[in-house]
Amino acid sequence: MLTNSLTPQVKHLVLIGGGHSHLFVLKQLGMKPVPGLAITLISRDIETPYSGSLPGTLSGFVSRDDMNIDLRPLAQFAKARLIRATVEDIDLEAKIIRLPDRPDIHFDILSLNIGSRPDASTILGADEFACPVKPIDEFLTRWESVLAEAVQRVSNQEDYAITVVGGGPASVELALAMQYRIHAECKLALESESPLKLSIISSSSEILARHSAKVRRAALDTLRRRNIKVELGHRVTRFQVDGVQTNLGGEHVSDATFYATGASLPDWPARCGIAMSDDGFIDTLPTLQSASHDFVFAAGDAATIRGASRPKSGVYAVRAGKPLADNLVRFATGKRLKPFNPQKHALALISLGDKTAIASREGLSLQGKSAWILKQRIDKAFVARFSQLPSMETKLYLTKGLMDIEAEAELRRHAMRCAGCGAKVGGGLLGEVLDDLHGAVGMEKKPIEDASIIPLRDGRALLQSIDQISAFIDDPWLFARIATNHCLSDIYAMGETPHSALAVVGLPLASQRIMKHTLADLMRGCKHELDANNC
Ligand SMILES: Cc1cc2nc3c(=O)[nH]c(=O)nc-3n(C[C@H](O)[C@H](O)[C@H](O)COP(=O)(O)OP(=O)(O)OC[C@H]3O[C@@H](n4cnc5c(N)ncnc54)[C@H](O)[C@@H]3O)c2cc1C
Repeated sequence: MLTNSLTPQVKHLVLIGGGHSHLFVLKQLGMKPVPGLAITLISRDIETPYSGSLPGTLSGFVSRDDMNIDLRPLAQFAKARLIRATVEDIDLEAKIIRLPDRPDIHFDILSLNIGSRPDASTILGADEFACPVKPIDEFLTRWESVLAEAVQRVSNQEDYAITVVGGGPASVELALAMQYRIHAECKLALESESPLKLSIISSSSEILARHSAKVRRAALDTLRRRNIKVELGHRVTRFQVDGVQTNLGGEHVSDATFYATGASLPDWPARCGIAMSDDGFIDTLPTLQSASHDFVFAAGDAATIRGASRPKSGVYAVRAGKPLADNLVRFATGKRLKPFNPQKHALALISLGDKTAIASREGLSLQGKSAWILKQRIDKAFVARFSQLPSMETKLYLTKGLMDIEAEAELRRHAMRCAGCGAKVGGGLLGEVLDDLHGAVGMEKKPIEDASIIPLRDGRALLQSIDQISAFIDDPWLFARIATNHCLSDIYAMGETPHSALAVVGLPLASQRIMKHTLADLMRGCKHELDANNC
């Protein structure tokens, strides 16, 4: 955090991915700060979607805003630097994260909560002809165009075929929610036969294989009643422009193909040298440390805990949040780490797309509206937990009674605006002081300009401008780029071009090593923009 704090930063924890476990880590670090520990969150998505609400969003019951958790206020609450980027290259020897378009990031401790993505490694044509359910924002963009096309075709009584590949809860939820929404938009009864041809294809011999026979039967009955075709024991081998091919030689015509096949991890963590478990995920010890590097932690879908492998589901990612936060702090402060043994069973709530759901846990199940209401409640409470944060009051160290309440409130408001122009004294106040000064030294009063003009002997003039800007974002490289452009704009506002610049930098107290990295990032950011302006 680029502040004037007298707390030096001496260790750097970098969190990669804004997954469910890291939401807890950030909240806990906000509630119980660890003075001296610098925190950075690097995430591909800044608005991290909560997948539990995805079926509701497809059906049209939950807005996209309500299914997303904004990482910005959460990072601010944790006093963490937030960087939007996709990490794919870590030098574990040098403890450096390399990002394509910005300076390297040095770390002491690393935590990975990067989720998973559907596995299409054995299916040809996945990149060209089909859309995975994750990343969710890309999936939703594709779904919006499919929805528009499907509604138009179905309304015109023309066939429209959608195929969902995969036999787990996600496929069932997607197919039912898509059908509900298209029928609703076309004003068709839910269970009516229509030109919409929806099918689920799975290589498994059962749908919802991890659930009880009763749950499987209930889901199959619902799918049949809603005219969704289920083809089991067919392994999709190729996605094509107009459908899919299976190992049994069948060709299935499809206008839009989605897949929610089993979870998999991209290959970059293994490429960087992080040990993998047999199932292809990060091999972690019960302390959530990587089996190969004690300073690397992992949780959620991306990790498999030795001796405690669990299904890849959000519930387990959430449960790992607290032990992960505790162990990261313990590791940072040299304390003994505590093992985590995740619960063996979890409640699953499978949405049926029409404001009903199936609740399933260890052989027990319940289908109907009440299961949907429970799901809604749990999902809403989860998003709210990380969106409604305790207020962060600005602390002013002022002895009571020195000022009246209103003047103190004004001072507090000014302290909160500690950014760009808010950090400067007001224009009126500055004008008064300058007027006095002009009078005192007998100088002519001139209109206020963006830069001062110094006439040179050869008829040319030198413009001088100085600007001071407090860090309003906690990313030295990006901040330096913004600040540099802000400074240069005064020269451009005078209709001239910049020639050269001097920088004065104030840095927060930190260890020499962290201070060096911060200063290097700042100066690289300045240079990036000065080069772009030929200055
Ligand atoms: C349709 C559907 C419905 C589901 N419903 C449920 C449900 O009701 N209950 C349940 O328990 N589970 C459900 N799941 C499963 C659930 O989505 C996952 O198990 C859960 O999201 C995993 O959480 P995570 O914390 O591991 O990662 P995620 O929540 O997937 O988060 C990963 C984060 O890492 C970031 N990231 C990824 N790669 C990088 C990178 N290289 N660099 C930087 N950042 C990166 C992403 O932007 C994201 O912020 C559902 C899944 C689907 C598809």
